[in-house]
Amino acid sequence: MIGPTLESVFIEQCDGRLRGRKPGLGADLLSCCLLVVALPWLWGALFASAAAQGPADARAILDEAREISYTRHWSEAQQLLDELAPLLDQLHLREFVDFHLLEARHLALGDDTRAALDRGAMLLELELDVDQRLQVLQFSANIAVLLREYELAFEYLLNALAQEDQLDDPVAALGTFNMATYLLGRVDETEQAIAYGERAIALALETEDPNQECVARQRLAPVFKWAALDERAEREYRTAIALCLDIGNRLFAGVLKHGLADLLRRQGRAEEARELAARSVNALTDAVFVLGEYEARLVMLEAEFDLDLIGPEHEQEFAELGRFFAERSLWDQLSRLEILMSQAAERRGDSAAALAHMRAYLEAREQFLGRDRTMRLAYLQVAFGLRIKEQQIDLLEESSRLALLEIEAASQQRRARSVILVLALGLVVLLAVLLARVFRARQHFQDLSRHDRLSGLANHGWFFERAETLLDESEKAGRPVFLVLADIDRFKRINDQYGHQLGDQALGQISRRLREAFPSDALVGRVGGEEFAILIPAREVNAVIRDVESFRKQAPKTFRSGDPQVTVSFGIAGSRAGDTLESLRRRADEALYQAKAAGRDRYIVAGTAG
Ligand code: GH3
Ligand code: MG
Ligand code: MG
Repeated sequence: MIGPTLESVFIEQCDGRLRGRKPGLGADLLSCCLLVVALPWLWGALFASAAAQGPADARAILDEAREISYTRHWSEAQQLLDELAPLLDQLHLREFVDFHLLEARHLALGDDTRAALDRGAMLLELELDVDQRLQVLQFSANIAVLLREYELAFEYLLNALAQEDQLDDPVAALGTFNMATYLLGRVDETEQAIAYGERAIALALETEDPNQECVARQRLAPVFKWAALDERAEREYRTAIALCLDIGNRLFAGVLKHGLADLLRRQGRAEEARELAARSVNALTDAVFVLGEYEARLVMLEAEFDLDLIGPEHEQEFAELGRFFAERSLWDQLSRLEILMSQAAERRGDSAAALAHMRAYLEAREQFLGRDRTMRLAYLQVAFGLRIKEQQIDLLEESSRLALLEIEAASQQRRARSVILVLALGLVVLLAVLLARVFRARQHFQDLSRHDRLSGLANHGWFFERAETLLDESEKAGRPVFLVLADIDRFKRINDQYGHQLGDQALGQISRRLREAFPSDALVGRVGGEEFAILIPAREVNAVIRDVESFRKQAPKTFRSGDPQVTVSFGIAGSRAGDTLESLRRRADEALYQAKAAGRDRYIVAGTAG
């Protein structure tokens, strides 16, 4: 962003430059402004072919006038404009603007700077194309500098810089760089000014238009002088003068000459300076650039003073210049002139006159400083406004960065939340799986701990634990349960005779048969080696007997043909009110014992055996 930097620098430092801290400023001030005055017009010439849309002859006359104004004499060009004036109403807007810009240029060259400024203001009221608006703004900014109306100059300059954004034409950028070179140079930002100047020259070379190069070099030359880079300054001045003369631009060359003259005088090369200043006066008088001519005459007087050539015959010249500068309130030029006159009076021993001129010098200087303060204030206002704008932009950038960060943080939070959610879900699933496994394992171990491996029936511990509960429940429900104890007959013998393996098979088979013989709500357990217990919720003892009988009938007595008979004895006991498991079990056990005693392979219901 060239804009704000350029302007702030300009604003902050220009006061130093305009106080005339550096010698030779005055000589360059007007010349620089003149260049800027001429520049938009030059630039306009480049646009001319594209912009031709008015009546063909009007366009042709304008083009010719421009050509003459630039290469010959502006008053000749003005004659052409005067011829065109009656047709003014019929011109298209672009031609209308070109006409007034050219005439405004002539007004400025012809010393009617105020009218030139008003003309620019009039044009700015119109709805102009961006390129023409920029031309008018550049023109007006520099006329405002000529008139020391700095506030206005800055306003136009800022406006011009704002317009620049809308253009991407290199020629437009060239115009800005030229302005930047001059303005930054004026405010002592010489390093930047030189950088812009060099960019401008590079762009000018790209356009292959020597006019552009002439202008760009003219801008850069005084910057080297202000930067006290005398050698480079002299080189640049001479290159620029040669180039501008080459393309027939005597006016530009004339302005450059008194700029160089001023440089040489400062180096003590008064003779060369005087000669150059004299040529500059001639060129500018011929070109009728009044302001430039008077400035050149001032440089000439300074050089002559250095050469001790000031005599009484110069009094008239001094007076004329004094009047000219005073009438136009050119206080910096006037102060230079008065100090020169004071020194001249002192040299010829006229102390009274020396004192009077010293007073006049101080007055002019006071005036200049007064206006300088106003200018500085204007600079400061613009700079301050810009700084506030920059701060606002910074603030906006900060807050948009903040908003982005917030969005980022929010999305990070969302991401984190999703990750946590996924992790939590995963954890829940994992826990569920683990729990299920644990549960299954527990179930498995519980089953293992509650059931007999060989038969799959409830084992001793689990059978009697469950039996206790079921007995309690039946008690509460007022419904009896029956306990059946079963014992395989003479099993020892079977083991002895056929081996334990077959004995185990027999045990398994009998277990399955028992499970099948009794109802599903009956609890069947293997409570000893070859002893079983069955707890049956039933109302009738006969139902239990039926089940026992069904076992006895269905259960094969042998495993294979020829195998020994395997029989089972049963003891049956029904619960009574107030029974404990212990008492019930005792009765069933007694009944079983009775069955064994009675010869085995039978059942006995407790309390029925005789
Ligand atoms: P009784 O008719 O008087 O009940 O005679 P018994 O031989 O069945 O009775 P006893 O109590 O004297 O012997 C029980 C036998 O049961 C002893 C043991 O060899 C056998 N036995 C106990 N548990 C198992 C087992 O898990 N597998 C096998 N194969 N035999 C077992
Ligand atoms: Mg036994
Ligand atoms: Mg037995």
